[in-house]
Parts: sequence; C-alpha cells; structure tokens
Amino acid sequence: MTDAASTGTTFQPRVFSGIQPSGGLTLGNYLGAMRRFVDWQDKGLNDGFETIFCMVDLHAITVWQDPEALRRQTRELAAGYIASGLDPAKAILFNQSQVHEHTQLAWIFNCIARMGWMQRMTQWKDKAGKNQQNASLGLFAYPSLMAADILVYHATHVPVGEDQKQHIELTRDIAIKFNNDYGVDFFPVTEPVIEGAATRVMSLRDGSKKMSKSDPSDMARINMTDDADAIAQKIRKARTDPEALPSEADGLEGRAEARNLVNIYAALADQTVDQVLADVGGKQFSEFKPMLAELAVAKLSPISTEMARLMETPDEIDAILRNGADRARAIAAPVLKKTYDIVGMIR
Ligand code: ATP
Ligand code: MG
Repeated sequence: MTDAASTGTTFQPRVFSGIQPSGGLTLGNYLGAMRRFVDWQDKGLNDGFETIFCMVDLHAITVWQDPEALRRQTRELAAGYIASGLDPAKAILFNQSQVHEHTQLAWIFNCIARMGWMQRMTQWKDKAGKNQQNASLGLFAYPSLMAADILVYHATHVPVGEDQKQHIELTRDIAIKFNNDYGVDFFPVTEPVIEGAATRVMSLRDGSKKMSKSDPSDMARINMTDDADAIAQKIRKARTDPEALPSEADGLEGRAEARNLVNIYAALADQTVDQVLADVGGKQFSEFKPMLAELAVAKLSPISTEMARLMETPDEIDAILRNGADRARAIAAPVLKKTYDIVGMIR
C-alpha cells in the first residue's frame, strides 16, 4: 500500500472512528457505531485497507470524570469493542491518550479552525447548555481534537452516528483550510459514513433527544451491561403513544417514540422497518414491547457476558491497548512530522 503521508496527493482508503469512555456503552453506540465498525474491519481485511478504532479518553475529560471510573470505563469500552467482534489482530484498537500525536496535531488545528466554526457546533451548544461561560475550553475545542484524531491517520472514511455529521464536516473544513493556507494537498477531505437502520437511536424517555451515555437518566438508555430484567423494565417504561402500531412506515410520521422502538427492533433483527411493520402492524405496545425486550436481550446478553469475562483480566486489556498504541503511533508519527515541516517548525 502506498503511504499517503509520503506522497501527499493520493489517499488510500483508511477508516478511523472513536468512542468516548464517558460512561457505559449504550445501545445507540452499539447500533450506530460499534456494530458497523465490525463490518468495516471485515471489509478492510478483504479489500486491503487499515481500520483504526479508538477509545477517546481525552475527549471524555472535556466533562469532569472521576479518575478511577475513567480508567474502568476505558477498559470496559475496550472490552465492548472486542466482545462486539473487533479483533485487535485485524484492526488497530487503542486508547487516544497513549498516542501523543493526536494532541500535538490538535494544537495546529486550533490555529486553523475559526471561532465562528466552533461556535456553530450543535454538540457544543447542547453540552454547554445555558452556562457556556462555565464550560471547559476543552469542550469548545473538542471538534478540533476530533479532526486531529481522524487526520493524523489520513483517514478517508469515518463511520459515525448521525449526531457526529457536523463534526466530520468541520474536519473537512479544517483539512481544506490547512491545505489552502500552506499550498499543499496533504490532508484528505474525509467522508462521513452514516448508514444502517439506527444512525440516531433516541432516548427512551424523550423521542426528540438522542440516547446518550451521559444522559443523567439511566432509564433513558439501554446499557450494553444491563441485565435482562433491567432491559425489560426500561423498554416496558419507555414512552410511547396510545395508538396501535401501523402496518407501514408512513404511519410512524409524527410518532417519534413509536418510530424509535420500531427502528431499534429493525436494527437488532437486521430487517427493514417495513418488514417489521408487516409482522407487528396492528399490535398494541403492550404486546410489542415484550417482543422488543426479548430480542434486545438475545442480541446483547452474549456481548455483555463476554465483556464481563474480559474485564476479569484488565492486564490483558492493557497489553492489547499498548500494542494497538504502538501500531497507531507508527502511522501517526510521520504524519505529524510532515505537518510540522509544512508549518515551519525546526526538527
Ligand atoms: P456522550 O453522551 O458522552 O457524548 P455518546 O453516547 O454520545 O456519549 P459518543 O462517544 O459521543 O457517545 O459517540 C460514539 C459513537 O456513537 C459516535 O459515532 C456517535 O455518533 C455514536 N452514537 C452516539 N449516540 C448515538 C445514538 N443515540 N444513536 C446512534 N449512534 C450514536
Ligand atoms: Mg456524544
């Protein structure tokens, strides 16, 4: 494979994505991101390109994290990746803070990105809320570090959920402005890859909000580590409307909560929404919810069992991450060096 970093003009396909260890993994993370990473890993193996997946712990601390909890969550996220089918022998799996090139490139990008671009980011507005003056500078700069995560590998494709689309667009803007400012064709203009039946899994309590690890209400999400009783209870209590399920997708118009549960079912069953509704159309939620709970437990419990098994040997997880970091650094270091040369740093 040609090294894109050395040629500067041709970019081989390379896939990167990351998840924050900012809490336990949710069903949204699994369906919108992780499960699709496994498909990319396999495609990469077939087609001969690298796939790189990361625990972005430096992103997690943009909001305060208890240090011991952060270490546990990072290992648990690694276990989640592996239990979902990522194989550290096939893909590069590592922890962001162990590869310093990310933050070094992020500083350069802080000098490329404009204040106005960052102020428009909806994640910033959502997470900082009404009290922006009191949010961390790191939370504001988050998308610049994310651009560095991606571009330090010259990644061309980034599989993410719908909520990250705006950050990938900003990554493209940073790459284009860097290339223009310095008259180079050095960074690729990355493609967001947002696909599948569940690109935006919604909160179980509020169909207008996405499901998130960091939502203060545990009832709003299904965690990958929830047991069968917790999953059944959360789905039973999930907000719905009093109507029966429609027989076609059109009938979900204006029914955000109903649409969300049907979407989740479809994604877990690997079916289209229309296929699901052909079976369950006319049923009341009192009948559909136990079906959904049973399916969710069947799909998630093998993963959570494997996660628990992996968590019994944290040293093995740490060894996998050290190895992944070495492999990641081997790609990132030359890209950072070349970036420093381009902007005029003395070696
Ligand atoms: P936090 O609340 O701390 O931001 P999160 O649940 O949003 O956590 P992230 O680590 O920010 O998770 O995102 C990891 C990946 O999961 C990203 O690709 C993101 O787009 C995807 N993702 C997050 N939430 C959802 C969701 N509700 N539906 C589909 N994909 C999601
Ligand atoms: Mg998020």
